[in-house]
Amino acid sequence: MITVIGAGPSGVGMSILLKKLGLPFVLVDRDEVGASLAKWPEETTFLTPSFTAHGFGALDLNAVAPNTSPAYSLHKERFTGLEYQRYLKSLVAFYEIPFEKRGIYKIKKQGDAFKLSHSDGTSLSDFVIVATGEYGAPIQPFEAGKHVSTVTAYDEESTSVIIGGGESAADAAIHLAKHRDVLVLMKEQWGTQHHDPSTTLSPYTRQRLFPLLSDGSVKTRFVTVQAITEQDGIYSIKTDGGTVKTDHVPIVATGYKPNLGPFREWFEWDASGMPVLNDRDGSTIDERLFLIGPSVRQRNVIFCFLYKYRQRFAVVAETMLTLSDQQVDKDQADVFNDYIDNDMFLDDLSCCDAGCDC
Ligand SMILES: Cc1cc2nc3c(=O)[nH]c(=O)nc-3n(C[C@H](O)[C@H](O)[C@H](O)COP(=O)(O)OP(=O)(O)OC[C@H]3O[C@@H](n4cnc5c(N)ncnc54)[C@H](O)[C@@H]3O)c2cc1C
Repeated sequence: MITVIGAGPSGVGMSILLKKLGLPFVLVDRDEVGASLAKWPEETTFLTPSFTAHGFGALDLNAVAPNTSPAYSLHKERFTGLEYQRYLKSLVAFYEIPFEKRGIYKIKKQGDAFKLSHSDGTSLSDFVIVATGEYGAPIQPFEAGKHVSTVTAYDEESTSVIIGGGESAADAAIHLAKHRDVLVLMKEQWGTQHHDPSTTLSPYTRQRLFPLLSDGSVKTRFVTVQAITEQDGIYSIKTDGGTVKTDHVPIVATGYKPNLGPFREWFEWDASGMPVLNDRDGSTIDERLFLIGPSVRQRNVIFCFLYKYRQRFAVVAETMLTLSDQQVDKDQADVFNDYIDNDMFLDDLSCCDAGCDC
């Protein structure tokens, strides 16, 4: 038995592959399918565009399985978190994925198997695939301020100060600037271009943000925020360049970390706070426990976008077959070939360090 913990894009995508391979598994989540996405601010949309190009061998960037396309299902190029949740739910129904609503709060070893503790008791599993994402683990280093992951809509927010210099801060600034001028406190200027969208602003964000920087409706100040405190409704944001005061709750967009709370002890951790994985995305503590999704790192490759981490599902599945001494039969080989044909089997990472020539 295989247990996939977390029914977001990674858990659902992985489950579809396990179903196609005919392996015994269950997908579990403490919430409903796609719950993290349903919590996005209502104005926020995907950065990566979707297009129905799979008939010509180019899989939709936001698809989690071959021959599926959120652009086709949702009739859109960019969708909100709630809309993408609909795509995920339709996949779970279509592929008849066995799904159990249960939160896993502990994993222990019992003989060769894993014993998973959850609200209904315990269950045993030969393999565990952790797909718990990052959205459930926001980084909020300050005493006061509202983390962007708790914003439900920008029209209800009355803040004019945002802390952070990544995609979430930029997205918040773009939406808030429709209502009022915005000040963003960040360490360094937006703008440095890089071939890997994981380390810079996406083209979609640049195209929306830069006109607002030019017309002054979004202003930036390059400082390090040291503390945020609140007294009598006034927020004091202490920085290395002075204190900014505001009577609105500042939005804190300082990112996320791997959401591995109860499973932390199953991983070794590197100096940057990321879990260490073997070259098949297994834990270095137990190779039968895997991590999939945006926290996967292999050498310098950051798998934080869907179109990246979906390419590792088949690597994990193949590894589980090898570890169980199972031969790949003809039907399973066809499935793996389909994933290879769809650029969904990435085990040679030499592809992914390349820069951009134009
Ligand atoms: C604002 C925003 C915009 C984004 N835009 C893009 C984009 O354009 N393109 C792109 O590729 N990516 C984008 N991303 C990233 C993308 O959304 C994430 O990579 C993706 O949601 C991660 O999927 P996941 O399945 O790994 O985790 P999640 O979607 O976070 O799912 C994790 C699931 O695990 C469950 N869970 C957690 N702990 C437990 C437990 N102990 N027991 C049981 N269940 C548990 C949670 O309930 C949740 O349902 C964006 C993210 C954000 C926040």
